[in-house]
Amino acid sequence: MSISLQARTINPSATLALNEKARKMRSKGDPVIHLGIGEPKNKAPINAILNSVGKLRDGDVKYTPTDGSPSLKKAIIRYTEENYDRLVAPENIIVTNGAKQSLYNIIYTIVNPQDEVILLAPYWVSYPEMIKMAYGIPVVVTPEDGTFYHRMEDIEEAVSSYTKAIILNSPNNPSGAMYSAEFIAEIVQFCEEKGIYLIMDDIYHKLVFDKKVWVPAYKFTNKDTENTKVIVVNGISKSYGMTGFRIGWVIAPRKLIEVMINIQAQVTSGASVVLQSAAEGALTGQQNVIDNLQMTIENNRNVMLSELKAFSDLVLTPPDGTFYCLPDFRAYNMKSTQLAEFLLEKTYVVTVPGIDFGMEGYLRLSYAGSVKDITEGVERMRWALDPEAPNEIYIGDRKLIRDWM
Ligand code: PMP
Repeated sequence: MSISLQARTINPSATLALNEKARKMRSKGDPVIHLGIGEPKNKAPINAILNSVGKLRDGDVKYTPTDGSPSLKKAIIRYTEENYDRLVAPENIIVTNGAKQSLYNIIYTIVNPQDEVILLAPYWVSYPEMIKMAYGIPVVVTPEDGTFYHRMEDIEEAVSSYTKAIILNSPNNPSGAMYSAEFIAEIVQFCEEKGIYLIMDDIYHKLVFDKKVWVPAYKFTNKDTENTKVIVVNGISKSYGMTGFRIGWVIAPRKLIEVMINIQAQVTSGASVVLQSAAEGALTGQQNVIDNLQMTIENNRNVMLSELKAFSDLVLTPPDGTFYCLPDFRAYNMKSTQLAEFLLEKTYVVTVPGIDFGMEGYLRLSYAGSVKDITEGVERMRWALDPEAPNEIYIGDRKLIRDWM
């Protein structure tokens, strides 16, 4: 088999590989609990469904312009005005097949071979792979103090003459950390001054806890939309729990959007008109869908935090938002992949190894599922790892005895 050198460097999606293993175990009848998932259990908002059903009923299912249907773009303009306090033009927007394609379009548009893109660890798994696909080089900055919050000095030190962009995801997958307004202000100013693109992955911006306030990067630039270095990515996957609809978008200077349209036109064309209609329904319909989801997830986060407290040797920074937390399991002296496999084998609990996010020894746990899954999942993990936990457990009707400590 002849496979390109470039394609060979692309790692498989860690999450998808574990999902597949878990699916096989489940189909064998194993009582799998999935703490790896990145999507909530809600039903799609009714307005999203009605809008897309309307399209299907008309039978009017054709291509849209590559950059998105005009009516969805109008809804995105309104959303941007409300959430970012910035009025953008339709030419500043491209609608994509999920926020994933937004990020890929941006990276492909701005990165030359050997250009560097700075990632802040822990970072989302797909960023380095997308950068490599554009023949660029991911440069990772990790906070030295064991927190998930970066110092501007460390980022400045990582910048070279090859640095094209910095990607920031706040609140962050996988840590759940949200960067402070001061930090965002500093990094925006730095990027505007140095001429480095600042790619803001805002996909979790509505899933924030403890009444904390998320602040858009646009707030801290005095440049207009055609001249700013800030590029925004957002979508409906997380805030509306509409992961399967695959709609995201980019907001950027029109010169960049024009190139993204060329790229997307040659690869996928516009996103499906049916799904764009659903997105439009979500954005223009009742927004309490988001509040309900946010409340459910915040409650789940609280359950996860209180369950994890029972662990004797685990260090956890409470997440400010998202569906995830990233506890530090280094006290258990296992590589994160080995630890995730051990937990899946012994307890049927799916977790995601921290190494895939640039954090060895950590595991990403999701609280997007049910409260029952969270409590049972953490109880099983504790049984397997914590010498202070009882050494017998019932998983379904199976009684298991811990015989490895
Ligand atoms: N960015 C981050 C940080 C994500 O976690 C995800 C989804 N897991 C995406 C982008 C992609 O979102 P979408 O499903 O809309 O492609």
